[in-house]
Amino acid sequence: MTPSEILESAGLAKSDITGGTLDVFTPVDGSVIARLKTHSTSDVDAMIAKAKTAFKTWKSTPAPRRGELVRLLGEELRAEKENLGRLVSLECGKIYQEGLGEVQEMIDICDLAVGLSRQLFGLTIASERPGHAMRETWHPMGTCAIITAFNFPVAPWAWNAALALVCGDPVIWKPSEKAPLSALATQIICDRAMARFGDAPEGLIQTVIGERDTGETLTKSRDVAIVSATGSTRMGHAVGAALAERFGRCILELGGNNAMIVTPSADLEMALRAIVFSAVGTAGQRCTSLRRLIVHEDIYDQLLPRLKTAYDGLPVGDPLADGILVGPLIDGAALTAMTNALEQAKTEGGTVHGGTRAMSDQYPDAAYMHPAIVEMPGQTDIIRQETFAPILYVMKYTDLDAAIALQNDVPQGLSSCIFSTDVREAEYFLSAAGSDCGIANVNIGPSGAEIGGAFGGEKETGGGRESGSDAWRGYMRRQTNTVNYSRDLPLAQGIKFDI
Ligand code: NAD
Repeated sequence: MTPSEILESAGLAKSDITGGTLDVFTPVDGSVIARLKTHSTSDVDAMIAKAKTAFKTWKSTPAPRRGELVRLLGEELRAEKENLGRLVSLECGKIYQEGLGEVQEMIDICDLAVGLSRQLFGLTIASERPGHAMRETWHPMGTCAIITAFNFPVAPWAWNAALALVCGDPVIWKPSEKAPLSALATQIICDRAMARFGDAPEGLIQTVIGERDTGETLTKSRDVAIVSATGSTRMGHAVGAALAERFGRCILELGGNNAMIVTPSADLEMALRAIVFSAVGTAGQRCTSLRRLIVHEDIYDQLLPRLKTAYDGLPVGDPLADGILVGPLIDGAALTAMTNALEQAKTEGGTVHGGTRAMSDQYPDAAYMHPAIVEMPGQTDIIRQETFAPILYVMKYTDLDAAIALQNDVPQGLSSCIFSTDVREAEYFLSAAGSDCGIANVNIGPSGAEIGGAFGGEKETGGGRESGSDAWRGYMRRQTNTVNYSRDLPLAQGIKFDI
């Protein structure tokens, strides 16, 4: 299919994607595929006002009824899975299979949220006072702004939006300026779900198009109760500070620098497959991509040659073509960042395998790269940074404690894993003495999380949690209620205050 056909099949009319000033490029060949109109600050303010009005009715709509809207959204997404998945692939360069997987995550979180809409429960707590009942209840917070990154243009919106909607909060989406088209297509899908629902208040689900300043307008508004922001640590610093200034609530999902430890007892065949998928999937542009491989010295010489052979055979090319496993980087700036990182790694003692430009004759304006393996003498400065590209730094270890220390000794704390068939090693890695990350896996790579668990990480990853487990609480306010059903007025802590 041509780009125009992909855009059209995702429901985007010519008038939706032309006549504006924001150029949207496809990383497939670097060409402009849309010129979007952006929203001005006053447009954004008007949208925030609409959401505020919508909140008045939505917060009192029974939660299971709110869940019905999300159920319909899940149905609409199922019907559009291929069309939206293809657009995701065209717009951010991930292979079509991963584009489909991203839409499947949206469907999965809708299913989870529908069930949750009947399970937004609190606690009952024992009161110290006779004839008193104490409990905890959860209430909607208000408008939730969702700021998303280019590399997952739709799934993180859904992780937030599906939960926020059942929790009673209107949502305003600010997608990445590098990948706004799948957001527009998703908004059309939402509009269809809302039309079927019947009485969703106007302004319940909105999408705003713009760049960083549009995100800043949302972040600074006191009428936005929650800002959930996915992106770089640089962005998280700015958003976190703006929210702290006004005591707003934020959920930050920022950069990662994820590692795998491969121990002598590991199943190397499984480890090999997991390494390749998690290091080169999405061309190394996942927050959970494998960036650091820490291999025991006894198996290093068995694993590394096989890994290099696997890398040599990786099909790089058009992400929409059959059989391709590695698509392009998002743009020329990402290519430069990868090349610079490889140069720095060499000056820090690294030996680079791969990491050269690909497809430049066919696509001179696109940023295709062969993934790189870099053997490093230790964890140098460049390894401690997140370079958003398919670079896998490999280091040796002799003792598990030292390997865990190495894994934890980076500013980021998103995902981690160990390959081992020794239960002692595996459990130690998951214990308090082990990985310091939000996600720690055994015999699974660091990427590709399911939506049932809480997703997010510590340290410079921002501390936010989204998706499953009790992440829904991030979209509600907690209220403690004490009810006196006695005919007396005893004070807590036995205080006497007789008048
Ligand atoms: P980015 O930080 O450049 O942009 C992300 C979004 O933030 C965009 O929509 C952008 O317009 C907006 N933004 C930027 N500065 C802002 C500000 N000051 N105020 C408000 N909004 C602002 O990130 P990117 O290049 O699109 O994405 C790559 C980064 O995202 C990587 O670091 C990756 O690890 C991270 N990421 C994290 C997760 C996670 O769940 N932890 C998921 C995906 C991506």
